[in-house]
Amino acid sequence: MSGTPSDIKLIDENGIRIDGRKADEMRPLKIEAGVLKRADGSAYLEWGKNKVIAAVYGPRECHPRHMQNPAKAIVQCKYNMMSFSVSDRKRPGPDRRSIEISKIISEALENVVFTENFPRTSIDVYIEVLQANAGTRVAGLTAASVALADAGIPMKDLVPAVAVGKAEGQIVLDLNKEEDNFGSADLPIAMIPRTGEVLLMQMDGHMTMEEVEIALGYAKKACQEIYEVQKDALRRRYAAQAGAVDEDDSSDEEA
Ligand code: UDP
Repeated sequence: MSGTPSDIKLIDENGIRIDGRKADEMRPLKIEAGVLKRADGSAYLEWGKNKVIAAVYGPRECHPRHMQNPAKAIVQCKYNMMSFSVSDRKRPGPDRRSIEISKIISEALENVVFTENFPRTSIDVYIEVLQANAGTRVAGLTAASVALADAGIPMKDLVPAVAVGKAEGQIVLDLNKEEDNFGSADLPIAMIPRTGEVLLMQMDGHMTMEEVEIALGYAKKACQEIYEVQKDALRRRYAAQAGAVDEDDSSDEEA
């Protein structure tokens, strides 16, 4: 995050951002659940120019064994950005950033999964970023919680997440890449709309208390919107599954 170069104007005189959005407008979001056959649960998400896939395996035996917790399951998330996901090739393999993001997503998910139901096991969550355009940690978390639900893992609720930030002195919802690079603050946040519980909140840059209030208001409204998209993805998934079962039943009857 650095100062805006003079030739880049992130918000015009009418308050419109470079991708045509207003300050409190989110990029288009699409989620599909159950996209991978081998995984216990999965989800594919497109959010603006971000493309993310999440796969869940487990609860299964925890390896390495010394990580086992006799009282509950552990949630182990691996966030990875493909080399081709960004404009400059990203060096393959884990780095400090991906280790940090994996940790904060694991912790957010551990707070919603009923881990005490599955002692000694591991719930493994893989997040692969195929295309990145800022906000991939919140996109990954949003997809991962749908994948967990798709795996049938009991959890308190889904976890919608979004980043709010500051560009040209204005609070803006769901930062794009230019706003992330040249804006002055980035506040990723995950919130359960039903309870208002915050599961993730990070801050890069500076905001005044008043600006944080505005940002939280934007995040709350957006999380509700994201939550509806998540639920809709699961509804479509289960409707498709029920349709497939009905078809099986009728072919059994015909046989
Ligand atoms: N990015 C990149 N190369 C990298 C890491 C990040 O080009 O090695 C870009 C990518 O578009 C990413 C954005 O910078 O989405 C912002 O990254 P940040 O660390 O703020 O995390 P994110 O906003 O994706 O959660």
